[in-house]
Amino acid sequence: MARILDGAAFAAAIKQEVAAEVGELAARGVRPGLAAVLVGHVAASEIYVRSKVQACAELGLYSDLITPPADVSTADLLALVDELNARDDIDGILIQLPLPPHIDSKRLLEAIDPAKDVDGFHPVNAGRLLAGRPALVPCTPAGVIEILKRSQIPIAGQHAVVVGRSDIVGKPVAILLLHENATVTICHSKTRDLPAITKQADILIAAIGSPGFITPEMITSGATLIDVGINRLSTREEFDRFFKGDAKREAAFAKRGSVIVGDIDPRAFELSGAYTPVPGGVGLLTIAMLMSNTVRAAKLRGGL
Ligand code: NDP
Repeated sequence: MARILDGAAFAAAIKQEVAAEVGELAARGVRPGLAAVLVGHVAASEIYVRSKVQACAELGLYSDLITPPADVSTADLLALVDELNARDDIDGILIQLPLPPHIDSKRLLEAIDPAKDVDGFHPVNAGRLLAGRPALVPCTPAGVIEILKRSQIPIAGQHAVVVGRSDIVGKPVAILLLHENATVTICHSKTRDLPAITKQADILIAAIGSPGFITPEMITSGATLIDVGINRLSTREEFDRFFKGDAKREAAFAKRGSVIVGDIDPRAFELSGAYTPVPGGVGLLTIAMLMSNTVRAAKLRGGL
């Protein structure tokens, strides 16, 4: 029987640890602060940012939500970042992605002070990660490692196959696994005979953005499956492809008109040794790790 790696339980444990650290810092007169910049009105981004601000309130961090209009210029956002870099009450700066197409996102992310880059996207932090001197590590990849470690799933010596090579998930998670002494293979859209490689995985990380892409035939039974993907299914045909006859999901689909599936076909989970469900897996760790990074940034900035 496959073991479910319950993201909610891990996220709750991490948040509890963060709250305790915030309490200790408060006793020393320090309150970690996060600035969240939400440009325009993208519904999914609004939900994510609201959850992040709410997590700050729950754990005792200060937060400042800044909401420039959708037609804000790159120059105005650069000026905002400068201002946030200079503010002493702000330890972490989060710019919610995606930004409108007219904004120079790369330039903006590179303008953030690396010491306040709690998303870990700045090239300075990416370089530190590569060099094994991580300060602020991207939240989702950091969450993946937390899940494996807290589940006592061995990493050292295991063959970890990462499908996806984005700067925000695939590459950093592969580097983190390497630092944990896994033997790492990174796959992408140009990889030849992908199933032959994924079948070798002791630990398979899927970060592709394609619903149910990893099928049962692509894994070896007993593997640990970590599903980073978040894909919305909103047609009956898509729904039936994965969840036909699933009464619980059927009810959710009827109520909301859509359901979420990861990058791993849920039928593959049944063959695994352990897996992260979607929803309820990796996604829940991302905000917990953002809180953890903000506290870390506050400590590093304060020399604590
Ligand atoms: P990107 O689109 O940036 O990267 C996708 C990667 O998948 C690319 O490297 C691409 O390869 C690879 N890929 C695409 N098609 C194939 C294929 N047919 N075979 C092999 N590899 C393929 O996505 P992200 O990394 O940003 O996100 C991945 C998923 O994770 C998404 O579903 C996203 O929603 C989710 N996500 C979840 C988060 C969470 O908190 N849980 C946070 C961030 C993302 P190539 O480079 O060759 O194009």
